[in-house]
Amino acid sequence: MALQIDRIPNLGDNYSYLLVCQATGEAAVVDPAEADPLVGRLEACGAKLTKILNTHHHLDHCGANASLVERYDVPVYAHHSDAGRVPGFSHAVDDGDLVSVGQQAARVLHIPAHTMGHIAYVFEEAQALFCGDMLFAGGCGRIFEGDARMMYAALCEKLAALPDDTRVYCGHEYTESNLAFAVTVEPGNERLQQRYKRVQEIRARAAADWHDAKPDEMTIPSSIGEEKATNPFMRAPDADELGRIRSLKDAF
Ligand code: ZN
Ligand code: FE
Repeated sequence: MALQIDRIPNLGDNYSYLLVCQATGEAAVVDPAEADPLVGRLEACGAKLTKILNTHHHLDHCGANASLVERYDVPVYAHHSDAGRVPGFSHAVDDGDLVSVGQQAARVLHIPAHTMGHIAYVFEEAQALFCGDMLFAGGCGRIFEGDARMMYAALCEKLAALPDDTRVYCGHEYTESNLAFAVTVEPGNERLQQRYKRVQEIRARAAADWHDAKPDEMTIPSSIGEEKATNPFMRAPDADELGRIRSLKDAF
């Protein structure tokens, strides 16, 4: 049976994700910034929240941890190095650990650079990757705590090794602005140009308030194959080049 994935708009452009194991009705939330939208979805679908899965310590990804723990008494999973800075932290994980949501299992990937304790969750059977602020659709996160070499190892080695049809669920709806930059890096990339056009059409439908966003205005998920074909950060030949285009993007 499947893993149902619900994309929940949070704050101004964040995504949190409600994951429900269809076989058991057990649910987990990835990166909750706001409690109310999630509580509403849970009540509507009748699933039982059993875990909070965090990708990193920034508050736009774990700001709702405390109120959800208070309400549902659920454990909070994050990288062991973030024990002191993820609210409600209770379960330390590291690279290679398995975390389950009902009958569905996720492997933890430690992918530092945006923050040193940044992790991703990859559900192999469900073919879904939750990668927070490291890999974005069409781009990548800022390098706040690590360096370009770490970002290269994360994007171009670890995440690039996942199957092409792995769906990519990232932490923000940044795709249009990422692609606006990407086309300046690779103006001759035909697939990138097509993707940029398609994403502009999708985002032209955007509601005034992100909280009201409908699925047809969301550009997430993409896929590992699509990122490998069109994301200049994932396509960087080495860490130096990735660092160079990251600096350009910081000033874009
Ligand atoms: Zn972040
Ligand atoms: Fe973020």
